[in-house]
Amino acid sequence: MKTYSIVLLPGDGIGPEVTQEAVATLDAVAAAHDFQFKYTEEPVGGAALDAHNDPLPDAVLEQCLQANAVLLGAVGGAKWDHLTGALRPESGLLKLRKALGAFANLRPVMVPDALAEASPLRAEAVRGTDLLVVRELTGGIYFGEPRARETLPDGRESAYNTMIYQTDEIERVARVAFDWAGKRHRRVTSVDKANVLVVSQLWRDTVQKVHDQAFADIDLEHMYVDNAAMQLVLNPRQFDVIVTGNLFGDILSDAAATLGGSLGLLPSASVGGPVGLFEPVHGSAPDIAGQGKANPVAAILSAAMLLDFLDEPQAAQAIRHGVDAALDAGARTADLCRSGHRRVSTQEMGEEIRRHLKFAGAADRP
Ligand code: NAD
Repeated sequence: MKTYSIVLLPGDGIGPEVTQEAVATLDAVAAAHDFQFKYTEEPVGGAALDAHNDPLPDAVLEQCLQANAVLLGAVGGAKWDHLTGALRPESGLLKLRKALGAFANLRPVMVPDALAEASPLRAEAVRGTDLLVVRELTGGIYFGEPRARETLPDGRESAYNTMIYQTDEIERVARVAFDWAGKRHRRVTSVDKANVLVVSQLWRDTVQKVHDQAFADIDLEHMYVDNAAMQLVLNPRQFDVIVTGNLFGDILSDAAATLGGSLGLLPSASVGGPVGLFEPVHGSAPDIAGQGKANPVAAILSAAMLLDFLDEPQAAQAIRHGVDAALDAGARTADLCRSGHRRVSTQEMGEEIRRHLKFAGAADRP
């Protein structure tokens, strides 16, 4: 039987609780689709600091580099807040992304009918939103040199960063975006600030060239980032795939994240190298850790993205059906529970999703 090796990095806070539900869901779809997983569980973040005084021990990184994919929960918490630099829990995560060569961060944002009322925006404005933000993750202003903070000869302080992209960095992330658009609704919006920044002019020209040379059958539009921020709030349904640089992607993907009403819904994938990294967008939520209150949907949908990455799209789709059906049936963890809903724990939400994906899995089989 086909076997995929997965490194599990549950991490801290609610990380282990939601990862457990994602793993149970992966196993359920694997059984129905004739493949299996071999898991290796390792500590990361605070858990790894406690065990090895290192948020990402070399041996754990080595395991990740040998796997087919990595499924991570979340890292961080008050216990480790006093630590600085390379000893911070998050620095383990940054090191992992870089070592995996994960240059494209994918964040899908969906607002199914059942959740439109939970959005901070008007339900009719967000209902049916189904977009994917593709953010360049390893370049741009977050890494560009020179960067410095210094005192000028006249005593004033000065600081600067450099927003820099080479064409190959833009081309490869543009290809990821066009590939995904080809599997979705065939529209890409490339977001930049080309009216002001020369780096954005290169971005725009390069995305256009990749489109014209290899993806002319996909619709491409260019949008300035200030307008994109406004459009995301005014009419998010107009977007299919948004591709943008590191800084703009950071901001826009968080803005898009609010559309669905809870951080507990949002999955992500960081891809580009041979091993993909899949993790919920949310953090370790220490305020609700250990209470069975965490929403496992983000982790479970991250598992669905992992299945897409492994080229098991039917199994991925079975999970998405399961999530939609569980929400349609009124099951809600505390973050989304309103009157008329059935309030369930983390584990019960996972079970509800798995109960529904059996039917979806069977229907999806060729
Ligand atoms: P957070 O995402 O952990 O929590 C923000 C709020 O959302 C909290 O009220 C929390 O209860 C709620 N929430 C988050 N996930 C939820 C879920 N699945 N279900 C229900 N409610 C959920 O962000 P924070 O509070 O700013 O950070 C807490 C810790 O997590 C910090 O140590 C931070 O550094 C870390 N963090 C880690 C990651 C990561 O691992 N990728 C990302 C962000 C923050």
